[in-house]
Amino acid sequence: MKLDTRAMRHLTVEDWKVLAAVEQGSKNHELVPTTIIERLSRLKGGASGVHRSISNLAKVGLIAKIKEQKYDGYRLTYGGLDYLALHTHAQKKNVYSVGSRVGVGKESDIMIVADEKGAQKILKIHRLGRISFRTVKTNRDYLKNKPSASWMYLSRLAAMKEFAFMTALHEEGFPVPTPIAQSRHTIVMSLVDAPPLRQIASVPDPAVLYAELIALLLRFAKHGLIHGDYNEFNILIREDVSTADDGTESITLVPVVIDFPQMISMEHANAEMYFDRDVECIKRVFARKFHFVSTTPGPFYKDAKKTVGKDGAKRLDAVLEASGMTKKMAKDLEAAIRQQEEEKQQNPEAYEDEDEDEEDEEGSEENDEEDSGEDDEEGENKEEQRVLVIGDISSIEG
Ligand code: ADP
Ligand code: MG
Repeated sequence: MKLDTRAMRHLTVEDWKVLAAVEQGSKNHELVPTTIIERLSRLKGGASGVHRSISNLAKVGLIAKIKEQKYDGYRLTYGGLDYLALHTHAQKKNVYSVGSRVGVGKESDIMIVADEKGAQKILKIHRLGRISFRTVKTNRDYLKNKPSASWMYLSRLAAMKEFAFMTALHEEGFPVPTPIAQSRHTIVMSLVDAPPLRQIASVPDPAVLYAELIALLLRFAKHGLIHGDYNEFNILIREDVSTADDGTESITLVPVVIDFPQMISMEHANAEMYFDRDVECIKRVFARKFHFVSTTPGPFYKDAKKTVGKDGAKRLDAVLEASGMTKKMAKDLEAAIRQQEEEKQQNPEAYEDEDEDEEDEEGSEENDEEDSGEDDEEGENKEEQRVLVIGDISSIEG
């Protein structure tokens, strides 16, 4: 599954209203009955217009028809959710066009987007469960029975949590992208013009960078937080060039940290394990990549714990509650992330080769009719380069 904006231009105002109605109806109905869609979409033309839109939306895979014993109904697909989120970003003038995909995490799509002025930004689309639910049979969890609804629910939670932490960290002056907006399972943030540490073959002074990354990890701790996935993909290394008075240039490497859905509190029951894992991860990367091993042991959780909230450091681990995430939501998300980690360990191949993603493997009923879109003769590869203007889509609010 990936973001496919091809049908976007062809949707009418009525189609958007009906799509929004299906989303709204999904809050109370796993399958939204047509009568409810009719009521919620409040189209002036009445039922026939709604039916026409339903058929349009189903044709391009934004909603999917499900036949049930009791009644037939529709549910929003991930594609439909993508469209609604993009629509909101477009209306708020945060996104005008969608460009190429820069990263395919297994649990997210990372796209370059631009606003009306052409300023580039990053759109992160959370796809929690994209891997796990391919193997639904082996899933013992509570999510098993209604995978698609749960995907969306969990992905929304992931975006919500990530945005809340990015905002709080940014306000505290941490080197993180600038958060711009969140809608549903997506986030818009500033584009960091820097490769991940993963892609850096050598640095002038590994000891300096190592010390800096450890200092950053301790700074998180001081504010009550553990990143939880402090690895070479989630640390971008920016090169800041400065010129001295005598004209000599020097380069400073500035780490920028990303990816926050799994952040946890220093008070978490397993905090020490997560803290140690983050530390070990950095040590391993530096040993393997730069053959650098620090002579200083640690840092250790028990020491870091004593610094939490010291020197006036604002506690950021309470951010989530303030963002409207309930305890239950936080628990659901944590369970899903933990489950995903376990699967990653059991089935590492599924998570490797970030760019070689075989699309649509998970092809469920919602993708079946995807290819009936009018203009996909250019095929999959070309689609990557296409810049699609979405900023002129009409309002569904009116
Ligand atoms: P995931 O949760 O799937 O790991 P990440 O947020 O870590 O997603 O992003 C995946 C990759 O996308 C990163 O390793 C990085 O290369 C790129 N990326 C993500 N956010 C940005 C950004 N704001 N600026 C530049 N590159 C980014
Ligand atoms: Mg990542």
